[in-house]
Amino acid sequence: MDKRTICLRCVPDFRSLLIVMHLTMLFLLPAQPAWSDSDGDSYVLRQVVQEAHALFSGITEGANADYIPELSRVPSELFGLALITVDGRVFTAGDADYEFSIQSVSKPFTAALVLQEFDNPAVIVEKVGVEPTGLPFNSILAMELHPARSVNPLVNAGAIATVSLVPAENNAKRFLKIKQFFEALAMRELNVITEVYRSEAATNQSNRAIAHLLKKYGRIYADPEETLDVYTRQCALGVSARSLAMMGATLANDGINPVNKQKILEGRHIPRILAIMQTAGFYDESGQWSYNVGLPAKTGVGGGIVAVAPGRMAIAAFSPRLNRSGNSIRAMRAIEYVSRRLALGLFQPLREKGIRR
Ligand code: GLN
Repeated sequence: MDKRTICLRCVPDFRSLLIVMHLTMLFLLPAQPAWSDSDGDSYVLRQVVQEAHALFSGITEGANADYIPELSRVPSELFGLALITVDGRVFTAGDADYEFSIQSVSKPFTAALVLQEFDNPAVIVEKVGVEPTGLPFNSILAMELHPARSVNPLVNAGAIATVSLVPAENNAKRFLKIKQFFEALAMRELNVITEVYRSEAATNQSNRAIAHLLKKYGRIYADPEETLDVYTRQCALGVSARSLAMMGATLANDGINPVNKQKILEGRHIPRILAIMQTAGFYDESGQWSYNVGLPAKTGVGGGIVAVAPGRMAIAAFSPRLNRSGNSIRAMRAIEYVSRRLALGLFQPLREKGIRR
């Protein structure tokens, strides 16, 4: 027998050996969870973020917000995505570092600051409210319908009231406190985008009306004009998808920044903030979002959205084109995709996740 014949004879045996090895591996290895807390899953997370970006980048539906004129000048094609895990891993795709105005995504974080400062959950319930409105974010009708007037911290009325609750000697110090708190969450310096601030300050008559109505109802706790100015500056702070994801990941990680490990917020306040995000983060689309995705999240008319998967990660996306409720279409779709692929929804049974929560 020459060498070649020996090899050919070996082939069938070699094949059966492979099959036996394969079956043995199948039985011996534990089923791979879709996502776990180990670095081994970085590959999956990176893939999912890139897929979400690629899948939805072709969408051109919707339009930039234009009631704040400067927002209509932001290039509509921008699209960025960032995912940050509670163990500090960062995954991004597209325009994840483009600076846009935080707008209403700021609102839950100011409410978190108020909870932290007062260390008493009743403050938000009694002085602002926690009920969703089912109405647009700037609704004056909601103020007339709801006995709380300010309604909840995530609509304009409640957000303006929440700003007025931040303890500070004066306006400038109040804004600085908010900015510094956001900077600690985002782990970077943040600055007001002056053009956006000026543009909104020149056109925000309905927010001015809201601030004065709050005054009339005894539901604002500092000067209305000054509070409105702090609120407008807060909304004009520049962030990127990466920085929003970092802010969200700090909420996901019990108030500890996942990268520098600094404690920014007492963990006991976080479930309250996430509960309000769950019920009111998307204004009159909050029910729809909760039904589709099941994650607490917050949107803003700048095109940003951040979603929090407690104990696991945060996902942020940015794209300027909005739907009629003022929510970014591509950002919503991308986050929904990531959440589905990683089985993040809070209401999914644990067995579907294949992991501990
Ligand atoms: N600054 C904006 C406003 O008050 C925020 C609204 C939003 O992002 N939904 O109108």
